[in-house]
Amino acid sequence: MPELPEVENTRQYLLRSGLVGCRFGAPDITWAKTVHEPPIGEFIEGVAGRRVTDVRRRGKYLIAPLDDDQFLVLHLGMTGSLRIHDAGREPPPMVRHTFPLEDGREMRFIDPRKFGHLWLLPDPADAMRKMGPEPLEPTFTVDVVAKTLSGRKSPIKALLLEQSVIAGLGNLYADEALFLSGINPERQANDLGGDEIRALHAAIVQALSHSVAAYAAARDAEWPDPPVALSPWSIPRSTHKPCPRCSGAVAMIRVRGRSSWHCPTCQPAK
Ligand SMILES: [Zn+2]
Repeated sequence: MPELPEVENTRQYLLRSGLVGCRFGAPDITWAKTVHEPPIGEFIEGVAGRRVTDVRRRGKYLIAPLDDDQFLVLHLGMTGSLRIHDAGREPPPMVRHTFPLEDGREMRFIDPRKFGHLWLLPDPADAMRKMGPEPLEPTFTVDVVAKTLSGRKSPIKALLLEQSVIAGLGNLYADEALFLSGINPERQANDLGGDEIRALHAAIVQALSHSVAAYAAARDAEWPDPPVALSPWSIPRSTHKPCPRCSGAVAMIRVRGRSSWHCPTCQPAK
């Protein structure tokens, strides 16, 4: 599932492809349930003829302000990706929605499992539930993490997945941040000590920054068709590989139903 680094990679891809400044034609929406607001006819009419003025990101959402003060909001869901191609180029499989551009190209929303989402709104915040801080912004401090976790009895892994706690983290990067900070995914959040919270904060930033940089390098190397998914984390998600720190066996447990890979030696349960 696309998490913060994958969505940021998509944003950078759209910027480098020159989407800003382009004018949309009428989009071809082949799976109506993807459009949440407004009704599909109004969505198509509202996008057609509008020029993109920027591409922003909030958590896992992409936000394209248009030149009439509306916002096209996109969420890639479980398996979605975006590509800008010449209209004459053979479309990749599973293109569900096509946004023609006036320069002869088109933005293609590829979405095999059809879990993507689209909105056209006067306020992009209306597409999202309450969102926590952006972990790669300067406002994301150790104090913010400490305050957010204080008094919360849930397992730390479950809290890291809540977008209202920290925006943009998903299952993969939550596991990686817990591995880097040596914290067991089932630890109760309000039991973490000051040193552990500092380590967790640093690990979240490190895991995400490392991945954002890996995507940037891959975009440069493979432009104009950069990868949409890399595996730039260190905790193996398979029992076939040992822990890179202690060479012991890694393990998978379920925390509130989500698979959680960790090293029982390096991340003791306490
Ligand atoms: Zn280990």
